[in-house]
Order: sequence, then structure tokens, then C-alpha cells
Amino acid sequence: MSSAEEAGDSPLLVQLRALIERQGPLPVDTYMRLCLADPEHGYWQREETIGAHGDFITAPEISQVFGELIGLWAAVVWRSMGAPATLRFIELGPGRGTLLRDALRAVGSVPQVLAAASVHLIEASAPLRQAQRRTLAAWGESWEPTQPEREAPSGPTSNPAGSPEHAQARSRRQARDEGGSRGFIHSPASSRTKPGRNGEHPAIAWHEAISEVPEGPAIVIANEFLDPLPIRQLVFAEGAWHERVVDVDAQGGLRFAVGPVTTTGSETLEPVPGAILELRAGEEELLAQLARRASPLVGLFIDYGPMERATGDTLQAVQAHAWVDPLSRPGRADLTAHVSFARLGDKARAAGLAADGPMTQAEFLGRLGVAERALRLMAANPKEAGAIEAGVERLISPGGMGGLCKVLAVRSPGLPRVVPFA
Ligand code: SAH
Repeated sequence: MSSAEEAGDSPLLVQLRALIERQGPLPVDTYMRLCLADPEHGYWQREETIGAHGDFITAPEISQVFGELIGLWAAVVWRSMGAPATLRFIELGPGRGTLLRDALRAVGSVPQVLAAASVHLIEASAPLRQAQRRTLAAWGESWEPTQPEREAPSGPTSNPAGSPEHAQARSRRQARDEGGSRGFIHSPASSRTKPGRNGEHPAIAWHEAISEVPEGPAIVIANEFLDPLPIRQLVFAEGAWHERVVDVDAQGGLRFAVGPVTTTGSETLEPVPGAILELRAGEEELLAQLARRASPLVGLFIDYGPMERATGDTLQAVQAHAWVDPLSRPGRADLTAHVSFARLGDKARAAGLAADGPMTQAEFLGRLGVAERALRLMAANPKEAGAIEAGVERLISPGGMGGLCKVLAVRSPGLPRVVPFA
């Protein structure tokens, strides 16, 4: 869509204004959910979101080294889990599929892992599911099959779960999404691994929720998946915590306001007037779903946010790589908020998981050997050496992603500490 077409109120703004006039101001989490997930005008329906032509850039889009190191990390973790014969490699919010492609390519050097793995993707955005199919198909087709196909260790479930709204959203999405919301790169009607030049090509399936991923030992990767999960904001005013809400202003635009008193949110010991506390229930829900799985599991969360239990307003919107007012372009700008890693660790432990970390992305990648990997890649591609170095530098720079992004691993309590936290 051109910017001329985008002039004026967004269709979602018109809808939100009517909703607020009918029902009253919206809590911030409701606003965030509608901006991102509205089935017609939500941000996830947009075609170009991640990448140079989109709104924001992520680590795997900056350098292939990111996904490669995560693939190699997963291979080491698989061994530390006792090298199970079946492995569910689950990615939450895979974006354009770039991390997965780079990870699987790197894991090609450990064929036992590829032979054990089936890949399970959880993705809310129909355009991004298509982008993932394109990324993985292009990569898969460069592999020439040399042997007959064989059955995968196990296929995806067809056992849907969830609320009626969830089911409705699913059928709408399926209707829109060519090939349905589940599918395989090469053989839509069956679950098979493809042997190729680099070894096995694992079966890949898309699911609506992690509860749909079949049982079995699992490694879960989530890069920048938590930050778009909706947050509530509580604001401290007149001696009590209040819900922060989104209301309509005199000009018909949106503004923040102080809503009703709420009993949750007494976590900060001495709140000062105007303090803002952010709560993200989606984290508890996700960790509970992970903890509920019967088989051993390791999860890796990488996201923007502080190590500590910070307070303050971190709701932010980005469009075309620039910050914009989070209320000014509902449905047109990406909307996220920081992850508090200390709280994420607390939540994991409360759910019955063990947690390792957090550490900064720079330290995590450093300990995984980012410098060595970059040097090897530069030596093999001398013409690209400058770009490779600049990309890796962006991933680890202390004032940029390297310091702002943190990494936390969670695991079933019986498993050993996860590298490189050990
Ligand atoms: N991991 C990717 C993309 C990060 S952007 C990368 O690093 O490039 C966030 C991703 O999570 C997008 O793919 C977005 O569509 C997806 N997403 C956000 N909330 C989601 C939800 N509730 N369920 C499933 N996917 C979600």
C-alpha cells in the first residue's frame, strides 16, 4: 500500500473509535491485541513487516550467523537431553523463516539431529506463514533427492484445541491461506522427511498453538516472539494502581487515560505517582503450556528488555524503521513492549520449569563462538567479508542489539543446565 493510500484515519482507528464510544475506554492489552490481531485490519495481515522494505529488522535478518549458531546450539542441547530419537523442533513466531533455514542448514553437519527432528511452527500471521513456506521451499528445492522418501518418525497432530473464537479465527485463516494453516514443504498430504545432499530434510508443520504439537522431547526457539504479546499497563495514581486505558480525544484521535482501580499490581514496594507497571499474561500462559508437556523440553527466549524487574512505559510502535506514536497508526505500525527477563525467569520457575540466565545477546553469541564462525565465513566469502563483519557487529554491539536483547533458557527440571549458561 502506498503512503498516499494510507493518508487519513486507518480503518482500524475508525473501528476502535466506534468501539470505545460504544463500550468505553479499552485496556492497553485489548488495544494491543486489536492492533496486531484484528482479522481484517490488524498489523499481522500486512504483507511487508520484517526486513528492509518492511517496518523492522530482526537478528536472523541481519546475519545468517545468528540462525546458524542457534542451530548448532540446538544440536548440543539435543545431545545434553540424551540424544532422543524423536525431537520436536518448535519455533514460535518464525517471521520470514530465515532463522529456521539457517539453523537447519547448520544442523546439516549433525545428521543424527536432522534424522530425529520434525519442525513445528506457530505463526499468527497469514502473510508470514506464506513467507516461511517460500523461504523453506526455496531452500528445500536446492536439495536434490537421492533416495526414495521414507516415513518421518511421527507426523503433526490434527487434534485442534482452543476456544470457539480461536476456532473461528482458524477457519477464517484457513480459507484465506492458500494450502490451509498446516502443510508441508514438499508433500502437502503426507508427513515425510526428504533425503537430500546435506542429509535429511525434516517434516515441517504449522500449528495454531503449542498445545497442538505432538508429544515428544522438544526444543523451542522464540526470537522476538514475546514482545508483541499484549501487555496490560497499570498506572499508580492517588495511592492506588489503576488500569491504563485508551480513550478517544476531542479531535477523534486516541489518547491514554487512567481507568478503574485494580487490585493486581502491588509488586513494586514503593510505587511513586505516575509509575507504570506492565503485565503480560501471555508469558504465564505460554510457560504453563510448556510445563504441561510430558516429555523433556528446553526453550530459548531472546528478546528486547531489561534483566531486572523494571517499571515504566515500554509500549512502542515502529513503522518503516522509525518510531511512531503507539496510538497514532493502529494496525499500520508494529506494536511491542519490552520483556522483563527477571520476571520471565520467576514465571518459568513458578510454572515448574528451571531457568538459566538471563544473559545479554552479546554474551550468549560470544560464548557460542560468534567470532570464530564469522571469521570462517569471511574467509570463505572474501567479497562479502565487510558485510558479514558489519552484520555480526550489529548483533553483538553493547549499545545496540547485543546489549538490549537478553536470552533466557527454560528447561524441564530433570535436565542439566543449558549451554552456554552452564
Ligand atoms: N522470530 C522472527 C520474527 C519476530 S517478529 C525473527 O526473528 O525474524 C514476531 C513474530 O511472532 C512474527 O512472526 C509474528 O507474526 C509472530 N507472532 C506474534 N504474536 C504471535 C502469536 N500470538 N501467535 C503466533 N505468532 C505470533
